[in-house]
Amino acid sequence: MSLYRDTAVVLRVQKLGEADRIITLLTRRGGKVRAVAKGVRRTTSRFGARVEPFCHVDVQLHTGRTLDVITQVQTLDAFGAHIVDDYRRYTAACAVLETVDRLAAEEGEPVLRLYLLATGALRALAGRDRDASLVLDAFLLRAMSFAGWSPALGECARCGAAGPHGAFNVQAGGAVCGSCRPAGSVRPSASTMPLMDALLHGDWDAAEAAANPVRREASGLVAAHLQWYMERQLRSLPLVERAVPELIRERAELPGERVGEG
Ligand SMILES: [Zn+2]
Repeated sequence: MSLYRDTAVVLRVQKLGEADRIITLLTRRGGKVRAVAKGVRRTTSRFGARVEPFCHVDVQLHTGRTLDVITQVQTLDAFGAHIVDDYRRYTAACAVLETVDRLAAEEGEPVLRLYLLATGALRALAGRDRDASLVLDAFLLRAMSFAGWSPALGECARCGAAGPHGAFNVQAGGAVCGSCRPAGSVRPSASTMPLMDALLHGDWDAAEAAANPVRREASGLVAAHLQWYMERQLRSLPLVERAVPELIRERAELPGERVGEG
């Protein structure tokens, strides 16, 4: 067996037998790794508390035949301690971990950009200087950009006509022009897509200046876009306080609000 060392974020823990756990890690160099932590459910465990979700750790592993085995863990950042006692931060952080887990589908495939986005988002959520919902939306927009599904926010998603455009359609891929907009498109406020663009590009001054209804609408469009592209719903997202998808549904059901049907 060979030994290796990496830094990692703990994404998930599962019980294994009487005293062990399977830990799902997103490592900096090696991508997603599922590894066994032996004896961590015993109270005498040397590193049980260091392999909990949200922990950012330096970890040493033995390559195993099926799963690798964790042999040493050192805490780099105990993000969880600053996250778990605040419901909004906790649900946002859960959505970050779950999105990472889904996007890093292949074990052992390096995803450095996703690792940096995840540690950045957890650090911001633990630091409490920024609004939890904005941090989550910035993370989700950047994670979608990493995955290649960034919503169109300026030019039309269908024909590429220069924006800004007034309508947004998840199935079409984002902003749509007056000629392309499909039935059921929503017409967000004029500030909503600019807020999403500011979050994607890390323009926090612009993002934090956005009013609450605009933030909620942007969160809804981000969640709807992400869910459409992931093809299955993130379990954590419904826990996060979000006005839309209800807003999208309400708007889609109001004939006066609907665009693209003459
Ligand atoms: Zn168009």
